[in-house]
Amino acid sequence: GSQTPVPPGTKPRLTVLSGPSGVGKSTVVAFLRKLHPDIWLSVSVTTRKPRPGERHGVEYHFVDHDEFDKLVANGELLESAEFAGNRYGTPRLAVEQHLAAGEPVLLEIDLQGARQVRESMPDAHLVFLAPPGWDELVRRLTGRGTESPQVIARRLEAARIELAAESEFDVTLVNTSVEDVVRELLALMTRI
Ligand code: 5GP
Repeated sequence: GSQTPVPPGTKPRLTVLSGPSGVGKSTVVAFLRKLHPDIWLSVSVTTRKPRPGERHGVEYHFVDHDEFDKLVANGELLESAEFAGNRYGTPRLAVEQHLAAGEPVLLEIDLQGARQVRESMPDAHLVFLAPPGWDELVRRLTGRGTESPQVIARRLEAARIELAAESEFDVTLVNTSVEDVVRELLALMTRI
């Protein structure tokens, strides 16, 4: 990577971007990637099937359940979680190598993963991405118009619980504009 290493005597920062599902975490990361292709971003492994346009090794490393099991058994994942029937995890080695090289590292992971990182790496900086408001989140979760009222009700209940996790985080960024969030996130990642 071509980032400026942190000054001697200070620790490179591990930043975790998390928040309720549907809040726009992956949009923020996609925008960051586009603006700063030079910044290395952790690539998670997942058992989910690729969506159209997703590239192996860019958005995710796509693996099957056996491969995922092996990574867990060998201790190769920094954290892992199950989300909507699929498994996700952060490869440990690449994160450690980039931190050791003095580069800031960003993880975009779900709340379960963020809690695991909090436990295993107490120095990590946890950033909560919050929706501009409850009404906006309801609009986003119901907006697709494809889900049944029961499914929507379940998602809203899950979202209500997820929003309460904000208090466990170091910082909150409100996702009113993706440009603003990326700017603030970059500042947090590189501030010592
Ligand atoms: P999606 O399938 O929409 O790409 O991601 C679903 C959820 O999994 C999102 O909340 C995303 O932040 C989360 N996620 C992606 N990668 C990881 C990971 O490595 N670990 C954890 N715990 N969650 C992840």
